[in-house]
Amino acid sequence: MIEPDHRPGTPAEALAELLAGNHRFVTGGRLHPHQDAERRAALAEAQRPFAVVFGCSDSRLAAEIIFDRGLGDLFVVRTAGHIVGPEVLASIEYGVTVLGAPLVVVLGHDSCGAIRATFDAMTGNPPPAPGLSAIIDRVLPSLRAANVQQITDLDEAAAVHVQRTIDQITQHTTLAEAVTAGQCATVGMTYRLADGHVTVTASVTIP
Ligand SMILES: [Zn+2]
Repeated sequence: MIEPDHRPGTPAEALAELLAGNHRFVTGGRLHPHQDAERRAALAEAQRPFAVVFGCSDSRLAAEIIFDRGLGDLFVVRTAGHIVGPEVLASIEYGVTVLGAPLVVVLGHDSCGAIRATFDAMTGNPPPAPGLSAIIDRVLPSLRAANVQQITDLDEAAAVHVQRTIDQITQHTTLAEAVTAGQCATVGMTYRLADGHVTVTASVTIP
């Protein structure tokens, strides 16, 4: 049950709260917490989100909806195919080191257009638009890594891409320090479009 004033303060608490919210979403029992005028007013001066969610921009992957949360709960960063660049790393770092979020989630999903476009490019098909090379170039190493592991299913390859994205984030010095100090953990998740279910696919040790 949501206690409106309780903010998850540890990585384990934050993960449990996200998974509980996703369970409510999947089972049709959403509580829509923190979506009212009182919450808006309480947050006007400052925010203290309990998780950074870095996910694919896919319109079916709206973090506050699929985790049944509201204002001030999640610091959300999204790019197509959750590709990482300097802006993404700085945004995640802000959520962790300035806002104090104890958990960073990388959120991928099945039937991802970025994964599909990259796979098509690997197999000699032209990208849907020429300007998409920045996405394809950054997903490509993940699909190559999946290929080495003899993974041919694109949804399984998406999980490899989530893991590689976590690796990129945790190699970032400041975030690695926060993880090492136990202030923060990283978790990989994949989302199933058809039923809304989130699965934890990769994580470091949760302090
Ligand atoms: Zn996607």
